[in-house]
Amino acid sequence: MNDDIPQLKSYDDASLDAAFAMLRDEVRNESARGIDAEAFRLRWLGRKQGRLKLVSDAWLKSASPEARKPLGMRFNQLKQEIEAALEGRQAELKGLREGLKVPGSPLIRGIDITLPGTVRRPGVEHPLIKTMQEVVRVFHHLGYSTALGPQVETDFHNFEALNFPPNHPARDTQDTLVVAQQQSRPLRDRLLMRTHTSPVQIRTMAAEAPPLRIVVPGKVHRNDAADATHSPVFHQVEGLCVDTNITFSDLKGTLDHAMKALFGSGVKTRFFPSFFPFTEPSADVQISCIFCGGKGCRKCKHSGWIELLGCGMVDPAVFASVDQLRVAQGKEPAYDAKKISGFAFGMGVERIAMVLHGVSEIGLFYSGDMRFLEQFA
Ligand SMILES: [Zn+2]
Repeated sequence: MNDDIPQLKSYDDASLDAAFAMLRDEVRNESARGIDAEAFRLRWLGRKQGRLKLVSDAWLKSASPEARKPLGMRFNQLKQEIEAALEGRQAELKGLREGLKVPGSPLIRGIDITLPGTVRRPGVEHPLIKTMQEVVRVFHHLGYSTALGPQVETDFHNFEALNFPPNHPARDTQDTLVVAQQQSRPLRDRLLMRTHTSPVQIRTMAAEAPPLRIVVPGKVHRNDAADATHSPVFHQVEGLCVDTNITFSDLKGTLDHAMKALFGSGVKTRFFPSFFPFTEPSADVQISCIFCGGKGCRKCKHSGWIELLGCGMVDPAVFASVDQLRVAQGKEPAYDAKKISGFAFGMGVERIAMVLHGVSEIGLFYSGDMRFLEQFA
């Protein structure tokens, strides 16, 4: 509560109006705060130390004789208002007290339960999380289970075991965010922010023998400058299937089904030869443009196709690394490339969300702008 006596510099009508408006606000705020009615009366109308008396004494003392009358009238009016507020509060309290005695009264402990409540809107999933879950759900229906791994990885899990040669450009600090001050460690033990979710494949295979079907959602980091379609932190969903007799046809059938489940049964898929260190052969997958149905439009750069993910058959060198790791951990080798085979695929969640919802600026997903986010609620 404010106990200072406000200064009154001038006695013209405008200054008085402003000064009294401030006092009135004070009365209203304190009354609304619900302090005890008697304490409120003493504070404002107390005969010796009441705030109204202190303020009026201070202001009247320095007022010229002709200014005293309008000033006095205003103080009288304010006093009446305070008395009215006090009476209102007392009547309200009396009503509450009596209301409490009436069985079935809506007034319970001074709370009017007939008033509308405070609306608390439940939160919803962020569009990226929602998209990630949608992709994961498609693969759950195919019998895949979710696997997760750390975002700070060793060079071994992120690169070496995945068949990235030592001078591969992706290992360059231009593309990778590495943890500082590790020069004394052997290269394979140095820590970095994972550049893809693929190290989780290595961790899962090292822990479990085939058959294996996993889907790996997660956050990845690259030393990339942010632009309309790139962000240094983004999300991937990756999949791995290892079993006996897994062929490229299984890969094609699985991804064709997944794309139809995500984008509608009308989409077509096509596979282009590509290169990834950890798969051989490798392919890029395109889907027919969901905006123009393949006729060609601005969104698909008039090609009729949208590139969406990468995939391939797991490179035998990856299986060999996994078995090395298993042996080092005291486990039986289980990934003999002569007996088993597998495929892997990976997609960017932001990319899929952008295509699904027609968003052209990746930064919107991270901006926290409610006007954008509420469209997905
Ligand atoms: Zn198109």
